[in-house]
Amino acid sequence: MPLSGGMTCPNLDGTKGFSGCAYCNNRSFSPVWNLAKVSVEEQIATLLPPLREKYPEAGVLAYFQPYTNTYAPVDRLREILSAALFHPDVAGISVGTRPDCLADPVVELLAELNEKKRVIVEVGLQSAADKTLNAINRRHTFREFQEAVERLRRRGLSVTTHVIVGLPGESVPDFLSTARAVRDLGISAVKIHPLHIVCGTRLAEEYASAEFELLSFEDFCEAVALMILEMGTDVAIERFSGESPGDLLIAPSWSGDRNRIAACVENHLKELKHEGLL
Ligand code: SF4
Repeated sequence: MPLSGGMTCPNLDGTKGFSGCAYCNNRSFSPVWNLAKVSVEEQIATLLPPLREKYPEAGVLAYFQPYTNTYAPVDRLREILSAALFHPDVAGISVGTRPDCLADPVVELLAELNEKKRVIVEVGLQSAADKTLNAINRRHTFREFQEAVERLRRRGLSVTTHVIVGLPGESVPDFLSTARAVRDLGISAVKIHPLHIVCGTRLAEEYASAEFELLSFEDFCEAVALMILEMGTDVAIERFSGESPGDLLIAPSWSGDRNRIAACVENHLKELKHEGLL
């Protein structure tokens, strides 16, 4: 169940930058992007009943999704996260954030809450290459990501990360290097996104002026299969598609076609197995 923690992001409010990451349009990646002023309790009251109707037996994970959900003073953060975590129908929370918004007091709070119910921390990475992080205006380094993950894991927290396959200037060796970084840091799960271009972003402008090309469907699926092989069996792959509302998505048209992507990745994995690589 996606929820808004009502926070902004240091890469949008001017603390780190105003323009955000080059691919970012929160409208495109979270259905609750505009609920910042609605309390967590009200959001749950609205969003939970339809979910319960659809999946009556399933455990519910509350996912603080848009913007940066640890970007608030610790006391305020405690109120926001607790409102979801201690809801009787919520089994645990997942908190989406950036590596530079995980100071020790925040990590301590997350670890404390994790002793009551499950807390997963979703830390965005996108690429393990600093040159790419710089080019897409992430405004943090791989080292900062590594340190944040190590501190979270030392306090017993599970970490999920997000990576993008197909960023400008990257190719298979870069994707595999990111996959190895994920594996070597003991990250529990990864969400792999095909680079998809949405309106209102810097990449949309660069794509319109043909400054880079997107991966083909086949090349993306093959890259994902190779990354899965590189990451090994200890990293759960939570997704390898990226849905965006039709009025915002510019390209590629297949980025949200989960079934087609899954079938193609599976075929590539079978080929790798046939070649004795899996
Ligand atoms: S850190 Fe997240 S919310 Fe902030 S600009 Fe980047 S993608 Fe957008």
